Amino acid sequence: EYKKRKESGEHHPPPRKIAILTSGGDAPGMNACVRAVVRYGISKGCAMYAVYEGYQGLVDGGNQIRLMDWKSVRGWMRVGGTSIGTARCKPFQTSEGRLKAAENLIKEGIDSIIVCGGDGSLTGADVFRSEWPSHVENLKKNDRITTEQAEQHKHLTIVGLVGSIDNDMSSTDITIGAVTSLHRICEAVDSINTTAMSHSRAFVVEVMGRHCGWLALMAGIATGADFVFIPERPPGEEDWRPRLCDVAQRHRQMGKRKTIIIVAEGALDTSLKPIKSEEIKDILTERLGIDTRVTTLGHVQRGGSPCASDRILATIQSVEAVRAVLTSKPDTPSPLIISRNNQITSTSLMKAVELTHEVAKAIGEKKFARAMELRDPQFAEEFDAFTASTILDDFSENFVLPKHQRIRVGILHIGAPSGGMNAATRTAVRYAHNRGHHPVLIYNGFSGLVRGTIEDATWIGVDGWTSHGGSELGTNRDVPGIDVDMGMVAYQIQKNKIQGLMIIGGFEGFSSLVELEKARQHYPSLCIPICHLPATISNNVPGTDYSLGTDTSLNAIVSACDAIGQSARSSRRRVFVVEVQGGKSGYLAVEGGIACSANTVYIPEEGISLSRLQSDVKHLLALYFDDDPDMSEGRIILRTEDVSETYTTDVISNILKDEGHRLFDSRTAILGHIQQGDTPSPLDRIRATRSAIKCIEFMEFHSSEALDKAYLSKQGTPIELTQCEDSVAVVGIWGADVRSNSVKSLLPVTDMKNRKPRSAWWFEHRPLVDLLAGRGLFTPEA
Ligand code: ATP
Repeated sequence: EYKKRKESGEHHPPPRKIAILTSGGDAPGMNACVRAVVRYGISKGCAMYAVYEGYQGLVDGGNQIRLMDWKSVRGWMRVGGTSIGTARCKPFQTSEGRLKAAENLIKEGIDSIIVCGGDGSLTGADVFRSEWPSHVENLKKNDRITTEQAEQHKHLTIVGLVGSIDNDMSSTDITIGAVTSLHRICEAVDSINTTAMSHSRAFVVEVMGRHCGWLALMAGIATGADFVFIPERPPGEEDWRPRLCDVAQRHRQMGKRKTIIIVAEGALDTSLKPIKSEEIKDILTERLGIDTRVTTLGHVQRGGSPCASDRILATIQSVEAVRAVLTSKPDTPSPLIISRNNQITSTSLMKAVELTHEVAKAIGEKKFARAMELRDPQFAEEFDAFTASTILDDFSENFVLPKHQRIRVGILHIGAPSGGMNAATRTAVRYAHNRGHHPVLIYNGFSGLVRGTIEDATWIGVDGWTSHGGSELGTNRDVPGIDVDMGMVAYQIQKNKIQGLMIIGGFEGFSSLVELEKARQHYPSLCIPICHLPATISNNVPGTDYSLGTDTSLNAIVSACDAIGQSARSSRRRVFVVEVQGGKSGYLAVEGGIACSANTVYIPEEGISLSRLQSDVKHLLALYFDDDPDMSEGRIILRTEDVSETYTTDVISNILKDEGHRLFDSRTAILGHIQQGDTPSPLDRIRATRSAIKCIEFMEFHSSEALDKAYLSKQGTPIELTQCEDSVAVVGIWGADVRSNSVKSLLPVTDMKNRKPRSAWWFEHRPLVDLLAGRGLFTPEA
């Protein structure tokens, strides 16, 4: 019935025609953009076009401007680069070329374009828009278009998406493709690390970034490199060479067998002279006698298949781009879709481009502080985080605290292992050392603490931990006061003179905070700053947007689902029900569902009912009925493990098998502990580094007053450092910030029974999964 209706052309003519093009250097996630733009546009009743070969396609017209249907973009989520092509187009830089482009668009009836590219492409788009009325007039005057066409297409709507691996656009925290590129760099540096270690060599790794050091700096943080060179912050002194040698030598003296230097291709010194990899190599070889090699990563950084976060970013930004087209007005400036504080929003496209150009200008004028400021707000903080956690003792005397303010910091892990736990521990240890504190490692969680398995942490002992998955300290779910005797915990804290406690882990960490806070009234030794750094793949800890391990886990799910999807596709008519973890939190299913182009997701926040299953079966039947039988696709459904005791993964799969008749069959896949991932992702490593530094700062803040008082009154170090409620807190990621929130303030927003926050920012992404799978379009009722 559906097919008949479709063939008889009963569909109404679409109200609006929108085109998407990709331009400039390719970036992973551009295809995810095209997919989401095309599908969301169709779902809103628009006719969606793709312009092939960037602006060249606009100038050439004809078959380069193609009408897309729902299936044209099937499978594009996982494909790297841009399948509609990109080009650097000279003719579009001329008014004549743009006139031709306008003619081609108007003849197709298109006057809205979404452009995904870098600052050059977006500038070109804005120039095109500003000239549009004069092009329309010119075309009409020369009878190249009719008066009616000129009237209908008086205005051009432009919406920008930033596709760039460099993360070089001001105003947005992150650009589409940058994180995937970082993945490739980190994989390469991780591999180089092992050979450098074996041969005791130094490696100079050159990464992309002509005017932007984001890739180099983030790679430096994520891989624990010894030194980074970026354009925005040249090494302080006139001559950087002695400092480089000094740092490399100091690290070697500590016992390091390898030296890794990361250089952005546009790295400069303070007099704007380029710093080149070969020169660094010669210096390390000649001055320190270290066997040094250069690796230039080149186009491998263009990325290939996009990582989970780029797939999600591209999808939600693209949906926003279509919304912006549909709400645009002729007199408002062209918007650029950006990501700020973990929110998708928009800003004036040209303002963002101007700010971006200002960075290069500021560098050119040696205004390096201004250049840092113009980058995203975390950039300067991350640079300091790198220096403070990676380079030994490389500080002014003020950085090291006076003796009486130094504390013994205990670090332990709790809950299931997750990516980034070790990176956080490493940074905490190193930062604490650099501040003059005394970090101690507590093995095997609170039960280990009770048994006294505690050891001093050394700077070199945590070397390489950024890239280690799992938990080096050992972890379990024992919560003090519930599974472990609180008196013994307090006793060991007192005995070991622990003056600050850092708990890295999942919801059990939060429960521990609650118990420790309650027990303070009985045990003075617990009156110390205690912080919880959330680390769990379920993302169910209150007080943070992301817990450590979530990104690693999403990438593990994406790579498993890509493989499962391939199998399902090869079998032509197969629906996989894939079970993911998350406890009572649907985070992994929803975000994983977007990144894997899942058909739908079953999550605890919604539950499962018979009517829901019935409607899902109908939707699948309609999809398979509409497919060409010989080219039919596989499909994936994600189900959170704890969503229902009745509708288990097997039950759902069996229902689908029966109800699919001969149109499709079904299989299951339970991802289990694979979801904890192997190597932590770069984002988790970076989040770990920033958060761990904040944890140490938190402890300093909450102990300093008591320590100062004790010092002034010459009483010595008190056992009780603080009674303040705020000194027991979760240190979490809030948008672009890392902040502490006291356990007391978080309790009202926490559902302790279901072990999760009462509301979740990611829940608004949930409808996109179904929408982009054609729900509402491909149903028998449609
Ligand atoms: P990347 O960051 O990867 O370099 P980009 O978008 O900045 O991406 P560019 O080569 O600067 O890449 O621009 C891509 C294309 O955009 C150009 O080849 C040209 O067709 C068009 N373009 C750039 N600047 C302008 C401009 N000022 N006017 C018209 N078109 C432009």
